[in-house]
Amino acid sequence: MKILCFIQTLDGNANNNSLESLCAAQEISKNNGAEVHAVVFDKSVADKLSGYQLNSVIYVNNEELNNYNPEYYLKALEMLNNDLNPNLLIFGHSYETRDWVPRLSARLDKAFVSDCTKIIFEPELYFIRPIYQAKLNEKIKLNGQGIVSFQAGSYSSDNISSGSCNVNEVSFDLSLNLTVRPGKRFKDSADGVDLSNAEVIVSIGRGVGKVENIDMVKSLAEKLNAQIGASRPVVDAGWLDHSYQIGSSGQTVSPKLYFSVGISGAIQHLVGMKGAKSIIAINKDPNAPIFEISDYAVLGDIFEILPKLLEEL
Ligand SMILES: Cc1cc2nc3c(=O)[nH]c(=O)nc-3n(C[C@H](O)[C@H](O)[C@H](O)COP(=O)(O)OP(=O)(O)OC[C@H]3O[C@@H](n4cnc5c(N)ncnc54)[C@H](O)[C@@H]3O)c2cc1C
Repeated sequence: MKILCFIQTLDGNANNNSLESLCAAQEISKNNGAEVHAVVFDKSVADKLSGYQLNSVIYVNNEELNNYNPEYYLKALEMLNNDLNPNLLIFGHSYETRDWVPRLSARLDKAFVSDCTKIIFEPELYFIRPIYQAKLNEKIKLNGQGIVSFQAGSYSSDNISSGSCNVNEVSFDLSLNLTVRPGKRFKDSADGVDLSNAEVIVSIGRGVGKVENIDMVKSLAEKLNAQIGASRPVVDAGWLDHSYQIGSSGQTVSPKLYFSVGISGAIQHLVGMKGAKSIIAINKDPNAPIFEISDYAVLGDIFEILPKLLEEL
C-alpha cells in the first residue's frame, strides 16, 4: 500500500491537524507496512518533515501554490496522484480540506471518507467516523483506493515517529483559466488566532450567568496564556462572537489543556473538544456530563472558585 499525506501550511508552519493525520498515516504503516509520503507546498516545512519517519517528502515548488487556491491545489494533487498512484490520500479535516478535497475526490473518482476519528485493523483496515452529531459511529472499508481526512484531535502530533528521509522537489505546469479567486484570508477568531491550533483554551458556558461576568473568565485565560472559547448559548446571547464557538456547529479543537467554566457538556459541545489532552471543568452540578470526560472535575460555584484561583495564580 502507498499513502500520500498532504501537509497544509500557513506562513511557514505546518497545520497541526495535518500533522495529526500524518501520525494516523504512520499508524497504518506500522500495521501493514504501507509506504508513507508527505506532500507539502512550502520548502521550509518540507525540510522540517524530513526529520520524520517517512518514505519521502515531496515538495511541490510552484509559486501558484504559495497562497491557497482550490483550483491550483486540485491540479497539483491530481498531477502528483497520477505520477505516484497512491492507494490512500490522507488529510487533516481542516476548513481548506472541506473546501477543495471534495473536488479532488470527484476529479480522481476516489471515495472521500471525511472527518474520521479512528483507524482499526481487523485485520483489514477500517476507518471510523461519527455520524448524526456523533451519536453513532460508521465503520468504513475502502476498496483499495480512496481519500480520508481525520478530525482534529483524533491523533496527536506529539506521537509522530522521528527518522530521516529525502525531500524530492517537483514542479508542475499549473496553467489554468481560474474561476475561483480567493479573497482576503478569513481569520478564525476576532484577534486572528486559530482555536484549532491553540494549546490552552479557557471556554465559557452559560453558567457564567451574564455578559458582565465574562471578564473574570478572561482574566483566568490571560493568566494561563490561553485563548478564549465558548459554548453556543454564550454566542447566541451575543456575549462573544460566533468565531469563539466550540462544538458541532463551531470549531473543533484539540488543545493540551481545555478549561471549561460553567459548561454542561452537551454532546454538540463535546464533539468539538473531546480531543483535548487534559480537561478541567468547573460546574456546580455533580451530574454535569462534562465531568464524564474531565481529568479534573471541580464541583462548585464559579463565583467562589474563580476569584480564589485567580488570586492563587
Ligand atoms: C444542531 C445543534 C448544534 C449545536 N451546536 C453546538 C455547538 O457547536 N457548540 C455548543 O456548545 N453547543 C451546541 N449546541 C447546543 C447544545 O445542545 C447545548 O445546548 C449547549 O452546548 C449548552 O451550553 P452550556 O453548557 O454553556 O449551557 P447549559 O447546558 O445551560 O449549561 C450550563 C452549565 O453551567 C452550570 N452552572 C450554572 N451556574 C453555575 C455556577 N454558578 N457555577 C458553576 N456551574 C454553574 C450548570 O450546572 C450547567 O451544567 C447545538 C445544538 C443543536 C441542536
